[in-house]
Amino acid sequence: MNPELSRKIFEEFKKIPAGEKINECIQCGTCSASCPVAAAMENTPRKIIAMLRADRIDEVLKSNTVWFCASCYSCTVRCPAGIKFTDFMYQLKRIGVKYRIKPKNKNGLKLAQCFCDTVNKYGRDFEPELLIRYNLRTNIFNFFKIIPLGLKLFLTKRMPIFPSKVKGIKNIRKSLEKIK
Ligand code: SF4
Ligand code: SF4
Repeated sequence: MNPELSRKIFEEFKKIPAGEKINECIQCGTCSASCPVAAAMENTPRKIIAMLRADRIDEVLKSNTVWFCASCYSCTVRCPAGIKFTDFMYQLKRIGVKYRIKPKNKNGLKLAQCFCDTVNKYGRDFEPELLIRYNLRTNIFNFFKIIPLGLKLFLTKRMPIFPSKVKGIKNIRKSLEKIK
């Protein structure tokens, strides 16, 4: 990415409320230690902050970290500098979509797209369909591996087998269209 575009994207990134607080990160690593998915991320939350400050937003957006974030807010709650790292992840997702910069490992991105498709259809998540959509787009053989777990969840009434639409689904779809 050319440096000018990189700087422009970084300035846009900082426009979220409290985005400028990125400069107050003390690199303590509490966010990475608190993150339940850090082990699966190519770059930990602490490293993401360091990379952004080093003008490496292109690499940040191409790593799997942004789309692997589960939005659990542990990093945000525990950051001693008051940095809302989860919001940073959302802003990076928006910027990645806007500038069409995709991660090399697209599984997290595909899961997010399948989730949006499912919500668009029912107005809420429907896990069995989400898993089918995701596995069809990634590796169908994984789907067969999770069938026993799915059956267990169904038999213990933890997962529905039929979907249900929320009332006013048309309004939700209209809102989603506007957001697009
Ligand atoms: S917990 Fe906060 S201050 Fe510490 S490295 Fe993470 S973002 Fe920076
Ligand atoms: S919000 Fe995302 S980055 Fe922060 S701890 Fe949770 S999964 Fe990790």
